[in-house]
Amino acid sequence: MDPRPGHPEVLALDPVRPDPEQLAALADRMAAGSLVAFPTETVYGLGARIDRPAALDRIFAVKGRPATDPLIVHVASIDALDGIVGRVPDRLTALARAFWPGPLTVVLDRGPLIRDSITAGGATVAVRVPAHPVAAGLIRAVGTGVAAPSANRFGRISPTRAADVVDELADRLAPGDVVVDGGPTPLGIESTVVDLTGPRPTVLRHGGVSVEDLVEVLGALDAPERRTVDDDSASPAPGGLLRHYAPATPLVLVDGDRQRVEELAVALAERSVPARSLDLPADPAAAAAVLYRTLREADGTASVLLAAVVAPEGVGRGVNDRLFRAAHGRVVTDSSPGTVDRLVALARA
Ligand code: AMP
Ligand code: MG
Repeated sequence: MDPRPGHPEVLALDPVRPDPEQLAALADRMAAGSLVAFPTETVYGLGARIDRPAALDRIFAVKGRPATDPLIVHVASIDALDGIVGRVPDRLTALARAFWPGPLTVVLDRGPLIRDSITAGGATVAVRVPAHPVAAGLIRAVGTGVAAPSANRFGRISPTRAADVVDELADRLAPGDVVVDGGPTPLGIESTVVDLTGPRPTVLRHGGVSVEDLVEVLGALDAPERRTVDDDSASPAPGGLLRHYAPATPLVLVDGDRQRVEELAVALAERSVPARSLDLPADPAAAAAVLYRTLREADGTASVLLAAVVAPEGVGRGVNDRLFRAAHGRVVTDSSPGTVDRLVALARA
């Protein structure tokens, strides 16, 4: 938390019918170069206008995000993509009809309005039309694209409540910046990212729109389960870093059921290692909705955190992907003495 009274500025808005005058005032702030953190249906984003280069630079500074990690540009509708993307492929029209507004991000050739800082110098740009009334209303009031990554420090757990944004960023935000409080974000994990620039559509990140639903619209597509590199210093496909969404307490992903998690927790307790199981709901959508809040609340309450994978269907692929990265790729499949030894060593490291 930041000791300065009234900092950062937090503005509560009705998540269903946000006040148009307050949205217009926020748009004025962004026109003046301020950053606005706002709720979307996925997680809270930290937004800047795409035509305010100093504000874009500040997104990277505030998050501690490397300049090699490109930003998603949020627009009001598919008709607002002029100058932001190059050619609009037929596949985009089909995807937009099915999933926009909603938690789907599409990677396309970049247009002339897009600066290098947004794309990390690349030839493509990621775009999305959010559905949350606060995000949608704000972008409409702004009248141009809003670049907005998740409103957390780089590598940390994404924020699903305004208080999370304040915890993450208070001491880094400047006077004039605003955190909008529009309540908890309904979906709870990030958008699905689909790259349409290659010969075959490719899922770069699993998220709010399921692969099953994408296949219905696109037909054949590539959807690898886990896109990661083992070396965080290498520059992988953007967002492909292994360590991401991470609590400070080490997390271990258990490829098994809850009973396996319980066995591990008991075995660790017998070795005097306090372990805590995350107890996510079995239903993938319900698990997504509470995933980041659960990680935040469990962080620091034990020496090691344990989470069972959820069913790999629907948004469950996205949940497992986030858990895998939050666990820094540590997955166990049994509760053998050797496995328990490894977890004891991890907890004591
Ligand atoms: P965040 O907004 O914090 O969820 O992160 C944005 C993510 O969008 C990146 O980490 C990538 O996964 C993805 N992304 C943004 N721009 C591109 C791009 N041009 N090509 C591929 N992926 C992108
Ligand atoms: Mg992020």
